[in-house]
Amino acid sequence: MTARRPACNRARPPATPVLPPMPPQLRSGTCASHPQPALWQSPLAAEQEAARHLCCSCPALVQCRAWSLSLRTADDQTGVLGGLTPQQRALARRARQRALRKATAA
Ligand code: SF4
Repeated sequence: MTARRPACNRARPPATPVLPPMPPQLRSGTCASHPQPALWQSPLAAEQEAARHLCCSCPALVQCRAWSLSLRTADDQTGVLGGLTPQQRALARRARQRALRKATAA
């Protein structure tokens, strides 16, 4: 007969992703001072489109997009960042990885 392991009643803490530091320029982005900041976190396509449109004229667009694409797709599932939806960011990461693989294979 094998000994049973004692039951553990403590829940395992959730894994906290270690994210790259957010560039300070994002604090002065359009979304930081907009009267409707919820647009950037909305699940509605029309509101995401409005947020993406506002990102186009944001002074932090370049830094924001570079930072958002440096996140892992698993840690980046919601919100408009750098003018892109989460799905668009995932596609951009995959395209970048394909291009890198192609460049290093040549
Ligand atoms: S690019 Fe968009 S998400 Fe990024 S800081 Fe500017 S407004 Fe916000």
